[in-house]
Amino acid sequence: MAEKLAVFGGTFDPVHLAHLRAALEAAEEIGLDRVLFMPCAAPPTGKTVVASPAQRLHMLRLATADNPRFGVTDLEIRLGGTSYTVNTLAHLAAENPDARIYFLIGADAFFHLHTWYQPLKLFDYADFVVMARPRSPHAELLEYMQRRLHPDFALSHQGWVRLPGKGGAKWVPTTLLNISSTAIRRRAKAGLSLTYLVHPAVEEYINRMELYRDPAASAESHARRGVVRHP
Ligand code: ATP
Ligand code: MG
Repeated sequence: MAEKLAVFGGTFDPVHLAHLRAALEAAEEIGLDRVLFMPCAAPPTGKTVVASPAQRLHMLRLATADNPRFGVTDLEIRLGGTSYTVNTLAHLAAENPDARIYFLIGADAFFHLHTWYQPLKLFDYADFVVMARPRSPHAELLEYMQRRLHPDFALSHQGWVRLPGKGGAKWVPTTLLNISSTAIRRRAKAGLSLTYLVHPAVEEYINRMELYRDPAASAESHARRGVVRHP
């Protein structure tokens, strides 16, 4: 049987425990062989990214090292420029001609799919696995996809919503964890603990690199502790 290969795209600034838990549950539900976490180079939305591509990749490697099913791909970083998922998926399909490709996505992002570049073409390359997220719409995939993407989307077997002859999307009711990278950056900036929000190795890295710290606050704490910081 073809390998079931999933990519989980995002900014991952930084990767947190809700990303990891949702990906694990999606992998179990769909029977995925591999999940590759894929940080974007520059998101098309123009949102600011604080950590560098190398730092975001490094944190993903730390966070996924202890799960044999998880991996990291630098595909979008390598491609560079603005990351359009349709281009990325075309590359991924070309690089893995024998695999069946899945794209993991949180509900908040999925319900904006109609605003993405060439949304219908995405379904030429991949099936979308939509993971529940607190405060995001619930399980109304069929209605959304018919109304905003194409009227011919229909409910198919095992809960998949498909366009005839193409890929589709399936809702996976993952454990709702109200964690976001935005809240984590805010906490780190204020010098608050990230314990139980991120993988311990990621927490250690953020603390050591003083990532997301308010430069004024960290200079002050250095002065207090008499620390000289080396790069
Ligand atoms: P930010 O606050 O910077 O937007 P984020 O926590 O939303 O960060 P992203 O890197 O934007 O993380 O998200 C990557 C992917 O992970 C998206 O598909 C998003 O929907 C999904 N995701 C993020 N947080 C959660 C969560 N708590 N539960 C389920 N899915 C999530
Ligand atoms: Mg987000």
